[in-house]
Amino acid sequence: QNDEAKAVVFSVPSYACQRRTTLDNHNTILTDALSLLAEKAELSEEDGRGVAFRRAAAVLKCLPQPVTNMMQLRGLPCLGEHSFRVIKDILENGTSSEVESTQQSERYKALKVLTGIFGVGAKTADRWIRAGIHNLRQLQTSGQTLNQAQRAGLQHYDDLNLPVTKAEADAIGEIVEEAVVSVLPDAQITLIGGFRRGKLTGHDVDLLITHPDEGKEVGLMPKVVSWLQSKGFLLYQKTTINSYLESEEGPRRPSSNMDRFERCFSIFKLQKKVEAAQPETQAENGIQHHKSGCRLWRAVRVDLVVSPISQFAFALLGWTGSKLFERELRRWAGHEKAMSLGSHALYDNRQSRYLRATSEEEIFAHLGLEYIPPSERNA
Ligand code: ATP
Ligand code: MN
Ligand code: MN
Repeated sequence: QNDEAKAVVFSVPSYACQRRTTLDNHNTILTDALSLLAEKAELSEEDGRGVAFRRAAAVLKCLPQPVTNMMQLRGLPCLGEHSFRVIKDILENGTSSEVESTQQSERYKALKVLTGIFGVGAKTADRWIRAGIHNLRQLQTSGQTLNQAQRAGLQHYDDLNLPVTKAEADAIGEIVEEAVVSVLPDAQITLIGGFRRGKLTGHDVDLLITHPDEGKEVGLMPKVVSWLQSKGFLLYQKTTINSYLESEEGPRRPSSNMDRFERCFSIFKLQKKVEAAQPETQAENGIQHHKSGCRLWRAVRVDLVVSPISQFAFALLGWTGSKLFERELRRWAGHEKAMSLGSHALYDNRQSRYLRATSEEEIFAHLGLEYIPPSERNA
């Protein structure tokens, strides 16, 4: 029997939003490699190439078993020549030479370190690298002017590059809940982003705030931020006020990926929980605490979004992710259904009207897609 006859052949629809992608990935070696190449492309502002690698990785993420043979990839969508080469390299040699050389490249390492600063994107990092800045020490002595976000990012660099746990996300959620309810009693908050998809850690905490009475939520964010500030919870915040309604010139306004909700990008000061462990462990921790001068709090990136109830389902769908799943939903809507999907609304270009929805299920139905729950949107 030849390998071809034994090989399991997979069948996968081509849009990520047509697939169920759980966190149970059987091909992490391959998807980590492709994700790294996607990241390299994004950091080099080669967005098209970045998306191509993200799509290829997403196809492998949803397979029911590990790929062991190139034959199994026959007929799979989204795998280009370049991705094939990377996969082949790993299946045959255990590693991808392109991934290895990327990881060793000074430019890639510098891009990673610099974009690891909150507020620093690929463009800024590239400009700094061209000025000879490759690490944080060089940045600090360079005399480069940093904006407020970047200064905060640099100050809390280690904390912000430390994964946020679900327990920390829940603790942040409770603080925000207290803030929101104290300024607007019946307001509701929902954990969104990666934690809503069931991830155990994340790079930040994303929370969506709404109120059952349309309009009550207007102007909520500044009040919530003041409350949080007065209690000393914020190390940094940048609030943007809703500009959706004012800038709306009619139903045909071209949809933009950036949404226009009241929003706050922030850095929280989160008190560390004292472990309720055995007395001996506590004593040990106490000693360690003094020796290492370990702080009693950590910095956590938090994104807050306020949505009117009429747009809540769209905001929920748009902010739950994953980023690729969202991108694919919009591509499906546009290319397959002649609709424009955003985090505010769904517009049907053929009927020239907005399609209402009060749940994510309704939005999938409008789009002619099978409903995919958050835990299966981990593309
Ligand atoms: P992680 O666990 O690393 O935080 P995540 O999936 O939560 O992963 P985020 O970057 O926090 O990733 O983004 C969460 C969701 O919010 C994504 O679906 C993304 O599309 C959406 N999002 C993020 N930033 C914006 C923005 N500026 N405008 C609109 N949507 C955004
Ligand atoms: Mn997130
Ligand atoms: Mn976020």
